[in-house]
Amino acid sequence: MELLRRDYLRGVGERLDNLRHAIVSLQIDPADGNALADLRAHLHKLAGTAGTYGFAQVTAVAREGERLCIEDLEAGGGVPRDHLERWGQVLEEVTEEFEATREATAHESAGTTSSPPEIDALVVDDDEEVRCQIVTLLEGEGMATRTADSCERALRAVAERMPDVLVVDVALPDGPGYEVVEHVRQQLGGDAPAILIVSGRTDFLDKVEAIRSGADGYFEKPIDPEMFLRRLQHLVERDRPEAAKVLAVEDDADHAAFVRMVLESAGFQVRICPDARRFEADLTAFAPDLVIMDLNLGDMSGTDLVRYIRQEEQHATLPIVYLTGEAHMQARIDSVRAGGDDYLVKPVVPGMLLATVASRIERARFLKSLLDRDGLTRLCTHASFMDAAKTAVARKARQPALQLALVLLDLDHFKSINDRFGHQTGDRVLVSLAAILRRRLRRSDTIGRYGGEEFGLVLEDLDAAEASRLVRRLLDEFSAIDHVAIGGEHFRAKFSAGISLLEPGVTLAQWIRQADDALYAAKAAGRNCVRLAPASANSQSNSHG
Ligand code: GH3
Ligand code: MG
Ligand code: MG
Repeated sequence: MELLRRDYLRGVGERLDNLRHAIVSLQIDPADGNALADLRAHLHKLAGTAGTYGFAQVTAVAREGERLCIEDLEAGGGVPRDHLERWGQVLEEVTEEFEATREATAHESAGTTSSPPEIDALVVDDDEEVRCQIVTLLEGEGMATRTADSCERALRAVAERMPDVLVVDVALPDGPGYEVVEHVRQQLGGDAPAILIVSGRTDFLDKVEAIRSGADGYFEKPIDPEMFLRRLQHLVERDRPEAAKVLAVEDDADHAAFVRMVLESAGFQVRICPDARRFEADLTAFAPDLVIMDLNLGDMSGTDLVRYIRQEEQHATLPIVYLTGEAHMQARIDSVRAGGDDYLVKPVVPGMLLATVASRIERARFLKSLLDRDGLTRLCTHASFMDAAKTAVARKARQPALQLALVLLDLDHFKSINDRFGHQTGDRVLVSLAAILRRRLRRSDTIGRYGGEEFGLVLEDLDAAEASRLVRRLLDEFSAIDHVAIGGEHFRAKFSAGISLLEPGVTLAQWIRQADDALYAAKAAGRNCVRLAPASANSQSNSHG
């Protein structure tokens, strides 16, 4: 707030000049209607913005001056001498209060800056040289590090405090590093840390084992610092919710600056739309999470824009907060009727603005997360899975070397499980498969409920053999589950899976077709198995069926 006030004070001279200019014009010609309208506009603006920055006295005095303007505008025929005198006093009082604040703040120090909370990283390696290399890398990124040289010490450090980042060597003196990872993932809160496995040249790195244990990535020594940090950054940032975007439709530059500074200081991404005619373009290009809407926008009204937003289905849940000088009840009723969610009257204090914006965005995100998640399994819905698959195809176009596999899983003879044991038991089987997929795959993998008893996976950084082996192990684990029906009978369930590695130039539709064909082949081969789409299947996939 102090910073905001200081910034506002820098522009105060110009505002006072505007007032002075209008008053002088009126002293010369008390019948100058333009000067009177100007004076009114400047006092109105001053009352609004000064209050926002905490200059309550300025607001009160400016309001009083504005009232006199309105009186004279309505009466017509020039301004009386006592009003002119009063405006002179208003100017003096306002100047004094600004001056006093300017002097008071000039003596203060710059104040303290708050830094973001540190990331706690635990490095587990028995090779001191490697440990030091990794610690240096992480500390260079501003992380706080702890170290351990054995499984046992690592687990003790984890028990003390769950780290945000865990780097584990595959071969530790008292056991494989995978066990540390698996143990951490089973702990309460153990799904949170980003975990990387590293292995020496002579150690055998088993990617599939690393994934199964719950690691997010793996690196061979000597570690390529740039790749290592990039991967880590990606993982750490994934967890951080993306900065929410706020589009403020505001034609008053002072107020726009205020909104921008308040929201940006709290980590929001802000775009100002100063011209209602640009609104549609900004809405599409910026894709905001929330819109702040002024009511009076020159020849357009904010309520018209809000009605426009609400007509578009994709913006039906976009939160809209009015922020306006208009305090009349009728204006509020109209704006709420048009489809706004909240109504703030200028001047608004920063805390109120932040609280309103943050709570509206959080609510909207929560609603969206419900829409994006399947109710039974909590996995991605078909629609959000398809979005992720589309993103994967786009990434491949930018980075052709990227390995991406699409897996389609379909439960075998699921209809008969439902028929024999009831739909509710069938549901439990679906949930148990979802749980295995969630537990066994990395957070960089996408897991979706593709259809009723069909699941879709997008897996990163695995070749065909590795992907098949991973899915085969998922199948082994799933088919070993002893399901108990509501009626007490025990039974097993199985699935079939088709896998297709994404090749450059393949479209989303072709990629899905290849995986689906491979799934069909697995079903035809007797089910309970995994089939890989033939390499370069894309060259034929246009032509058949
Ligand atoms: P196949 O091995 O060829 O895949 O045989 P299937 O019986 O699994 O395949 P089919 O497509 O004939 O039947 C799928 C069944 O899955 C039919 C449907 O009732 C059931 N199903 C779909 N969604 C759900 C669900 O959410 N819960 C339950 N319990 N059953 C579901
Ligand atoms: Mg099916
Ligand atoms: Mg099936």
